Amino acid sequence: MGFGLTDAQRDLRDDVREYARTEIAPRAAALDRNEEYPAAILDDLGDRRLTGLTLPEKYGGRDEGLVELAVVIEELSAAMMPVASALALHLGVATVVEHFGSERLREEFLPEMARFDTVGALGLSEDDAGSDKLAMETHAERDGDEWVLNGHKRWVTNFFDADTVLTYAKTGPDDEAPHNVSAFLVPTAAFEVDTVWDTLGARSVKSPRVSLSDVRVPAARLVGEEGEAYVQRGAVDTGVNLPARAVGLARSALDDTVTHVTDREQFGRRIGEFQGIRWRIAEMATRVDTARLLTLRAAARADRGADISHELSMAKIHATEAAVENTNKALQLHGGIGYTTERDVERYLRDARLLTIAGGPNELHRNTLADAVLGD
Ligand SMILES: Cc1cc2nc3c(=O)[nH]c(=O)nc-3n(C[C@H](O)[C@H](O)[C@H](O)COP(=O)(O)OP(=O)(O)OC[C@H]3O[C@@H](n4cnc5c(N)ncnc54)[C@H](O)[C@@H]3O)c2cc1C
Repeated sequence: MGFGLTDAQRDLRDDVREYARTEIAPRAAALDRNEEYPAAILDDLGDRRLTGLTLPEKYGGRDEGLVELAVVIEELSAAMMPVASALALHLGVATVVEHFGSERLREEFLPEMARFDTVGALGLSEDDAGSDKLAMETHAERDGDEWVLNGHKRWVTNFFDADTVLTYAKTGPDDEAPHNVSAFLVPTAAFEVDTVWDTLGARSVKSPRVSLSDVRVPAARLVGEEGEAYVQRGAVDTGVNLPARAVGLARSALDDTVTHVTDREQFGRRIGEFQGIRWRIAEMATRVDTARLLTLRAAARADRGADISHELSMAKIHATEAAVENTNKALQLHGGIGYTTERDVERYLRDARLLTIAGGPNELHRNTLADAVLGD
């Protein structure tokens, strides 16, 4: 039973870590403060084909597995979580096209997506379809060689810099659920923007509400089998990116806190010498390792073809709550300066707070996990 990365995985990690340390981390606070999209960074990641990390080489990808995805996402998120989320959501869309799209769609979209020349966003959630995605109102009607879409999507992360939205819509009656949802690649230009929220964290990559009114898309833009998109989506394991993002934040919170408590003196001693603080550091380090182990276990099992619904939920719950806990503790141990934008810990906390909600709230993952444990 191996717990270590291979030499190639370590090389990949070190390469991305160095890029993140030198090119992302120094810019992250200003990008966040100015709510500025990290365009140059994502273009660099496209040049390195990290935006096509898990896509097959024949479509311009790097043909890596989900362990490599988790490793790369942890490194990016440790520097700036929204960079990791823009890349991961894009790659998630490309993966659905790769697994279920026609050869024509794969050839048309994937080489450009691997380089980030075509950018994908995910249109699944709606006003009344948050945790309960099958309550979506967006629907598509077939008209000859086209589909006509009406409805709306909300929280479409990276919409403003995306070219295409993988849009889920009902194509069958409710009594056929979950076999009544199809997915379409819809150009972003076909949507109207309704609302752009001001968010607590993840401020540099926006997730607006957008709507579709009698938008026609060619039948060839249907991704996968008609009616099966919701079920097929469950077979895509790029969701390991979410706990991996949490591991990155939990780790940065720990690293910054170690530096701070080693430098800061009160009562004539470094505050890291106080037992109460040492114990918190020990707990933070344990959270980072347990979160990473659970995430990599899920990724490694998925790479071996196993069903990871149970392991993915466990990793998602534990890692995202570890990120919230570590970033919150980091702020406390920084004292007043941690509450300011002079340090990064307040940004880590704001970004971490999203992760227990996005990718399905942790309560739903607890349901999935309880079903697996109780055998329902
Ligand atoms: C910044 C941001 C970016 C996002 N990006 C995307 C994206 O790119 N594409 C996309 O499609 N979606 C995206 N989402 C949507 C995200 O997946 C949803 O927010 C999430 O699924 C929860 O839906 P909701 O917000 O409507 O919460 P609701 O479904 O209204 O749930 C509210 C709360 O109720 C509780 N709850 C709900 N159901 C249960 C239950 N069965 N048992 C116990 N408790 C429950 C949970 O605490 C939950 O947080 C994003 C969201 C945010 C905030």
